[in-house]
Amino acid sequence: MRIKERKIRKIMPNEVLIRVRACSICGTDIHIFDGSANSNPPVILGHEYAGTVEDVGKSVVRFKIGDRVVVDPNITCGHCYYCRRGFIHLCENLIALGVHIDGGFAEYSIVPEIQLYKLPDNIPFEWGCLTEPLSCSIHGVDLADIKVGDTVVILGAGAIGLMIMQLARLCGTGKLIVVEPNKERREIARMLKADIVIDPAEEDVGDIIMRNSYDGADAVIECAGNPQTARLALDLVRRGGRVVFFGVCDRDVKINIKPWEIYLKELTIKGSYINPNTFSRAIELLTLNKIDLTEFNIKRFSLGELLKAFEYHKERKVIKTLIIPET
Ligand SMILES: [Zn+2]
Ligand SMILES: [Zn+2]
Repeated sequence: MRIKERKIRKIMPNEVLIRVRACSICGTDIHIFDGSANSNPPVILGHEYAGTVEDVGKSVVRFKIGDRVVVDPNITCGHCYYCRRGFIHLCENLIALGVHIDGGFAEYSIVPEIQLYKLPDNIPFEWGCLTEPLSCSIHGVDLADIKVGDTVVILGAGAIGLMIMQLARLCGTGKLIVVEPNKERREIARMLKADIVIDPAEEDVGDIIMRNSYDGADAVIECAGNPQTARLALDLVRRGGRVVFFGVCDRDVKINIKPWEIYLKELTIKGSYINPNTFSRAIELLTLNKIDLTEFNIKRFSLGELLKAFEYHKERKVIKTLIIPET
């Protein structure tokens, strides 16, 4: 990965040129960088970004120069089997800005109008760029099907886990339990009002959850993406409960499941993939100040420090690492 000076190409009639104000590093960027996730090199990475409109194509109607905007990076085709069945996130021709085509780790980015949303004035760009992970988190919480008063367990308190726990709270969760080995992250989960915060390295997670619930959780949302927590999720859920796999395990990772336990407990196991039609709800929640990102430990780097920022993010010392091009 390197920084390169490049001419801005001419925009097409349906495209918008935006000046990137903030772009966040996501776990997916790290996976692309280390070769464990697909991409389309040479490509400008960065799919969580917000900025201002610099220029608009001839047929663009919803945006004008100067508008504050945020990008939904996931471009669906609209005509494949899955798109036409309403499962746009499962689109067979899905491409993403910052993964397959040039994205936001740049001063400027060209984005199709249809991928843009207006960013209200009261949302700073640094929060705006987190609309994408928030929109994915909303999908995950939707799938967990939380009922008022439910006991919900969140495994992992990174950016996603901390967003999901706040969303779960908004859904009416009764007891909210967060499991996280990192001390600072546990502290943030506490500040965001988790009822019980467990350190899995020091405490017996299963025992604590069984003592604090009736026979386990109604829903467990796995946000860590490793085989131990994926397996643990199934042990923590009560009969009739739901398990959502949100965290991304390595492609070849396997866990042991007995079909009998799924049968006997009548478990529902779901995967949560990206953000089908959840983007505007994410903006709405940020606008209404319903999601608190002030406790998030955020570190900022300039565009020239991109490599350094990736290395820093890998150390997992912060919740989010942002690239602010204008520094
Ligand atoms: Zn992402
Ligand atoms: Zn499609």
